[in-house]
Amino acid sequence: MDEHDPRWTSTNFDFDFDFDQLDAPSATRSRPSGVGIDPKLVAAYHGRRSPYGRALRWVFGLLALAALAQELVGTHYDRKLTAAARAVTGQPDVEVNCRRVWDELTFLKANPGFVMWGSKTANLSFGICMDALSWASDPDDEHARVAIMILTHELGHLAGHFDEAETECVAMWAVPRTAMALGGSEVEGRRTAQWYAASYNPLLRGDYVAPGCLANRPPVSPMLR
Ligand SMILES: [Zn+2]
Repeated sequence: MDEHDPRWTSTNFDFDFDFDQLDAPSATRSRPSGVGIDPKLVAAYHGRRSPYGRALRWVFGLLALAALAQELVGTHYDRKLTAAARAVTGQPDVEVNCRRVWDELTFLKANPGFVMWGSKTANLSFGICMDALSWASDPDDEHARVAIMILTHELGHLAGHFDEAETECVAMWAVPRTAMALGGSEVEGRRTAQWYAASYNPLLRGDYVAPGCLANRPPVSPMLR
């Protein structure tokens, strides 16, 4: 580069920046006059916090609040459904656990209800618990009907039934008892069983299908004594 080349020299270049300012703490840097921002505020937002910090705090705060609210409601659901489960199975040590949002993270497949081998606890999804408890006030609602049937099916496992079709059949016969234990009507419980036998059970996976269940004699079960 030729330093005398007029293209590289600029007589108008008025560069007046104090480079020492870059090394100084931000609060002591000089600012253009007339801009009234507190340097401490600038340091607080640009010096220490990530731009996502505030949003993340909101997200985690709201999640914690939702989890707390769900915990309060879930504890209430657990208590009501456990009382019903003990009445229907006749076993004083069985329990119903309504899964919370945190539990769903550990159950990768969205299973509406299950009982672990040898366990005394029926695990139901939070939605199934909610819908089963709403059945008594709206026994024609199909979600509530399926939910109270899933609940009764899991109670069948707690009562000692392992074959899925047999457990389905026990549940269809026993659902009027679950209905009464949840403050509903026995007649509506029977209507739910008939709807389930005709419209829902035949659509299930083969080992769950119980053809002619309600037309035959009830299966032998501690839930049907
Ligand atoms: Zn089952």
